[in-house]
Amino acid sequence: MKEDSGPQRPGIAIPGRQGANASAGESSATAGWDYSPAPETAKVAIADRYDLFINGKFIAPKTRKYFASINPANEQVLSEIAEAGAADVDAAVRAAKAAQPKWARLKPSERAKFIFRIARRIQERARELAVLETMDGGKPITESRDVDIPLAAQHFFYHAGWADKLQHAFGSAGEKASRDHGRDKKRRIRNSKLGTSPSPVGVCGQIIPWNFPILMAAWKLAPALACGNTCVLKPAETTSLTALRLAEILQEIDFPPGVVNIITGAGATGQAMVNHPSIDKIAFTGSTEVGKLIAKACASTDKKLTLELGGKSPNIIFEDASIDQAIEGIVSGIYFNQGHVCCAGSRLFVAESILDEVISKLTQRMTSLRLGDPLDKNTDVGAINSKAQLATIHRYLEAGTSEGAQLHEGYGSATPLPSKGYWCRPCFFTGVQPSHIIAREEIFGPVLAVMSFRTPEEAILRANNTPYGLAAGVWTHKGSKMFDIARKLKAGVIWCNTFNKFDAASPFGGFKESGFGREGGLHGLRGYVRF
Ligand code: NDP
Repeated sequence: MKEDSGPQRPGIAIPGRQGANASAGESSATAGWDYSPAPETAKVAIADRYDLFINGKFIAPKTRKYFASINPANEQVLSEIAEAGAADVDAAVRAAKAAQPKWARLKPSERAKFIFRIARRIQERARELAVLETMDGGKPITESRDVDIPLAAQHFFYHAGWADKLQHAFGSAGEKASRDHGRDKKRRIRNSKLGTSPSPVGVCGQIIPWNFPILMAAWKLAPALACGNTCVLKPAETTSLTALRLAEILQEIDFPPGVVNIITGAGATGQAMVNHPSIDKIAFTGSTEVGKLIAKACASTDKKLTLELGGKSPNIIFEDASIDQAIEGIVSGIYFNQGHVCCAGSRLFVAESILDEVISKLTQRMTSLRLGDPLDKNTDVGAINSKAQLATIHRYLEAGTSEGAQLHEGYGSATPLPSKGYWCRPCFFTGVQPSHIIAREEIFGPVLAVMSFRTPEEAILRANNTPYGLAAGVWTHKGSKMFDIARKLKAGVIWCNTFNKFDAASPFGGFKESGFGREGGLHGLRGYVRF
């Protein structure tokens, strides 16, 4: 902490202040206590150029094209990334197809060891990965360090544990087949013909978004590998660097070539994967719009498909909730990762009797959110991932205002934003009608729509009044009410008196336009086996 003149509130940033970290390196000039800068000091080596990772080697793209990867906090080019075309996709798929039988035949406990090694190496290189993730994507270093990287490692650890237990994983049929194993060969063969023995799907094409790059890679790769599949993974155009670091890790641990192939590129690369005839399964996380295109493309094929798509998740605060605790849940629900979260609690429903109190406390809490340099350990709200996403968020802010809702900006609207990079103040709208665009569409930014309700029935009706069904939050002191409401909400994940909590053992996925299939837990394995 350092002391300026003016009112003293140790540990709390003063509204309207221009903190040390407020402008990503610009000077501070206002009164009050403030945090001293706490920059992450680890330096990370970033190559000038990255190639495609196919069959265990980095190779130049046949397209000979590269695109720039930009640090969204300062607009500096971090590196040039290879753009894979259809021929590159084909090379990656061929490598995966050639490697698949051997990987599937490998003793499951040996497969587990390889997956375990990935997890250990992620842990060992955690600090470097966190810094890289933050530089590439704009999220605060504390989030990369404490959430993304540890969870990515956890997914590999968790799924390493399943690799030699798949027979047990799928209930009595699996158990029966397992009991028969080695005792009665004929029965075993009969059982597997009857479809009781899980076998891998084959080659999995996995397309991931830019909001949790290495974590989404782990969500996709770990279960696929545990089940004996091989993979072609495409990270999002704006955030390829940690997936490519993962490729380096695979080389370091002598991972069998061709089992994991990482190809970079934009939407056209993803499209070429979806249309490739030798890919047996597509696993996609991203927008509902692209998810629908992928579903159409796969409909006339025998590809397996799982889709984890958008959301407009309700966060419901009842009058008997602990309001201070709920305020923290609201903040983490919508401002975590700048709101670039598919399950963000972007629609807040507050019991009418406590609406004024919640808004007043939320307004106060938001004055202490620190926006700025994502590599500063005091930062709460980092940079918006890309210029395009910032433009999308601005369109929604304009739509909300023009439809008559009132915009409230946190982090002191008088405080200038950093002059370079892509920034959006955390904010919320009041006076929102369910028909407003900001109450219906996924914004994918730090923008909250606040609405109220009078009865639990109305809360449920309004919460379910959306084409999405990914997640929901319920805040109440009463256990019976919690379970009653949770049962009536149409959402794949429901958090009670908390929000945005994830675990590798807990299945994640949606209903309706939020997609189908689950990731994590036993349910997540189901998408990577055939019977
Ligand atoms: P997309 O759905 O376009 O991107 C997700 C992934 O799919 C990326 O790897 C992307 O490649 C790839 N992709 C894009 N087009 C195709 C295609 N036709 N076939 C196959 N793969 C494709 O999300 P955007 O990045 O464009 O973001 C747009 C909006 O989507 C956001 O504003 C947000 O609302 C929402 N979104 C939702 C996410 C969620 O998890 N719910 C995640 C990301 C975005 P590339 O990025 O390289 O173009």
